[in-house]
Amino acid sequence: MTYERVRKSIENKPVKLARYEKFNKPLPRKYGKNVHNCRRCGKRAGVIRKYGLLYCRQCFREEAEKIGFRKYN
Ligand SMILES: [Zn+2]
Repeated sequence: MTYERVRKSIENKPVKLARYEKFNKPLPRKYGKNVHNCRRCGKRAGVIRKYGLLYCRQCFREEAEKIGFRKYN
């Protein structure tokens, strides 16, 4: 489960939230797959960073023609 989803599930349980923030909060990362997420859907897997796209591969497939990419094969 992602950090955002965990937070949402316990946001109205203050004691649990405090314990989670103190002991189980994920570390802030400088590199790795958890750093970038898709600008359209927020997925963290399969994100294309080339040319500063920051779309996941699924969203890129849908948005490519609108951005100006052409399919050659
Ligand atoms: Zn996406």
